[in-house]
Amino acid sequence: MHIRVDIRRNDTVKVITGRDKGKQGRVLRVFPGSGKVLVEHVMMVKKNVRPNPQRNIKGGIAEQESPISISNVMIVCPSCGPSRIGHGMQGKKRVRVCRRCDAAIDK
Ligand SMILES: [Zn+2]
Repeated sequence: MHIRVDIRRNDTVKVITGRDKGKQGRVLRVFPGSGKVLVEHVMMVKKNVRPNPQRNIKGGIAEQESPISISNVMIVCPSCGPSRIGHGMQGKKRVRVCRRCDAAIDK
């Protein structure tokens, strides 16, 4: 299944469904193959960390983001909030725009 990925790293997105519904964060990574994104402070999971004295890592439990489906997030338009993405042209460059207020998402 091919998903068109309109979300890029460093975009701000809002979670619209699931456990972390309503949370907003910055996109840390995009996984186009699986249609998922890693969003800062969203879908935190606890992970056991093994102690590694050589690297000065204490064992214990660390919290880490886990990827969520792109269909569960909406991009946040800098001027009007969570929105859908459309495409427009800025000169000869194709840019992503907010479908609601036409503001460019790309800087
Ligand atoms: Zn907008």
